[in-house]
Order: sequence, then C-alpha cells, then structure tokens
Amino acid sequence: MHVRYSPLPEQYADPEEIFDELRALVKTGDFTLGKVVSEFEADFAAMLGVKHAIGVGSGTDALKIPLKALEPEPGDEVITTANTFWATVGAICETGAKPVFIDCDDSFCMDVNQLASAITPRTKAIMPVHLTGDISDMASITEIADRHGVPVIEDACQSLYAEVDGQYAGSFGVAGAFSMHPLKIINVWGDAGVIVTNDDELNRKYRLLRNHGLRNRDEMEILGYNSRLDSVQAVVGKWILRQLPDIVNKRAQNAAYYDAGLDGIPGIRLPARNPGVKHVYLFYPFLAERREELYRHCIDAGIEAKIHYPLPLYLQDALRFLGHKAGDFPVTDRHANSIISLPVDQHMTREAMDFVIDTIKSFYGGN
Ligand SMILES: *Cc1c(COP(=O)(O)O)cnc(C)c1O
Repeated sequence: MHVRYSPLPEQYADPEEIFDELRALVKTGDFTLGKVVSEFEADFAAMLGVKHAIGVGSGTDALKIPLKALEPEPGDEVITTANTFWATVGAICETGAKPVFIDCDDSFCMDVNQLASAITPRTKAIMPVHLTGDISDMASITEIADRHGVPVIEDACQSLYAEVDGQYAGSFGVAGAFSMHPLKIINVWGDAGVIVTNDDELNRKYRLLRNHGLRNRDEMEILGYNSRLDSVQAVVGKWILRQLPDIVNKRAQNAAYYDAGLDGIPGIRLPARNPGVKHVYLFYPFLAERREELYRHCIDAGIEAKIHYPLPLYLQDALRFLGHKAGDFPVTDRHANSIISLPVDQHMTREAMDFVIDTIKSFYGGN
C-alpha cells in the first residue's frame, strides 16, 4: 500500500467551482488587491474572531511585516524557539533584528520556563511558534511579555484554527501570522499569507507595509514592500476557508485514531495531549526509539513518513554567525534525533491509517 504525504490532489480533485470564480475574476481584470482580497480578509477575520486580517504574499511576510512595524534597530533581539522552521528566523533576520533562541518542551513549542531570563533591554518582540498544529502556552507567555512590556507576535503558520480555552492561535499577541502554502492547514495554489490583529493602528501600518507604503495612488507614507495577497490566490483561499472547521475536525479525529492505535507500543512516545487545547495536527509527530530504522521501515513499506526536522535550525550553516554549538538546546537535539511524523490530513482513510499502525507495530513487535 502506498501512503502519500500530500493530500493536495484529493483536496483539489473537483476544482470546477474555483474555475468558475476565476473566470469571473479574469473578466474584471481586478488582479491587485480589490474586491476578492477584501472579501477573503473579512471571512478570515470573522473565522478567527479578530478585528482585522491582512492578506500578504507568504507566511514569511506575515511574520516580517509585523516585526518591521516595530522598527527594530540592528542588534535588537527577537526571542523564538531553536527548533522552528526556516522562515521564522529568516523573517527576523530580514528586519535587521537578531534571533535569540530558547529551547522547546515536549509539546514542540516554546519552553516558557526559559522565557523571562532570555529577555534583555534589547528584546523587541517575543515570537512563539505554534509548531505541528499545537499551540504554545499563551497564558504564561502573555503574562511574562506584559510584565516586561514586550510585544508578542505569534508564528501560527502551522496552527490555523488551533484553539486554547476558546481562543484561536494568532489572536493572543499584537499580531498573528498564518501561511496558506500548499502544505499548511489550508492551502492555495502557490504562496500566500495572512496577518491578524485587533489593533486599528497596526492594521493600517501593515496594510501600508504590504503595498510599498502607499497611502494612496500617489503618496508614499513609509518604506514598504511588494507583498500583496494575490487576487487569484484569494479566490482559492475563500473557497477552502469555508471548509476549515471540517478540515480541522477530521484531522483531530484521525489523530485520535492514531493515538488509540499507537498508544502503548514499546519504543514510541506520543506527545502529551493538553485537554484545554484543540490541536489541528498539521502532521502527526511522535518520538521513536531507533528512529532512523523506523523511518526506513516506513519508507520501504510505502509510507511517506517525514522528519520535522533532522538538523535543528540553530545548527544550520546559515546561522553559524550566531555562534551556537551542538548541545546548546538539548530538548531540540533530542527531538531532532527521535522525532518522526505521519500524514494525518482530512483525506487520510481508515485503511491507510490501519496500515500505518500495523507497519509501526510490526517494526517494534519483534523486539
Ligand atoms: C510555513 C511556515 C512559515 C512560513 O510560511 P511560508 O508561507 O512558507 O512563507 C513560517 N513559520 C512556520 C513555523 C512555518 O511552518
């Protein structure tokens, strides 16, 4: 049996409705911002219960623009986690700020116990990353950030519609960043991102920054970027956004099915499930003994398992200038050596999941 990683061909098996909308858009010539982008933004904001959603070119830009709006000076610091995806740190560095890492805990999110001592007079922002579809401990992060007067910008690119105690990921900080890259919770047909905020002034500034700093056609108020949400992608985004509640429910059901099937297998450890959190399971990670062998065993059986991420970001060549060495972030290191993840998306079938569970059981069963 082949168990594929990407559900995109299934997700877009019947695109006729989208093609109809695109035909209508093409006739208007309304290709930069315009009506469909505004409609998408209104739908997105309503979905997350926030005041403003601003469509931008990518999830990376959705992180960069709110940071840029804080006007960091070279040497200003942004605290984030050592085990995040490239883009978090790429966005921080692009604004001229310096990433300061702290370790994660076994939820793969920021270890909040390390946060207060990482704050310095140069800390410009805290950027928790809601990794894997989970959500960071926002109650503690918000409390510490408020106590030090430091703004929080949430990297919620992997956790659209994740919830803790009834509040959505991305709506805790001054801004939250989302991605609609083809491998995220909702996906468009290329790159796209969204910033959310409840602050009217920041909303205005983010809109300026995404469009060359233009106040109107002829007046440039500040220096900005070309990072508009593409109108074509807004059409696709509007279509798939309606399915978001079903997508995350299906993912959570599938994760519960894996939990039941995998729990108790000697050699693997499932992450703790926090009862207050509605996890959206961008993928299904767990910690495995003899991870390399298990990974090969899955690949040989036809299961496209993945490793998120085999070489931690803080040890990548591109970040050597930060001066870190192996062992600086022991939990991140441990995860890099033992994490493995499985597809858990809304199009996974019971047969595929049974096959995955049996394959993993057979691997550990003989020992
Ligand atoms: C995908 C991702 C991003 C960036 O999103 P793009 O749309 O690919 O630019 C940022 N942070 C995290 C944690 C991500 O997973």
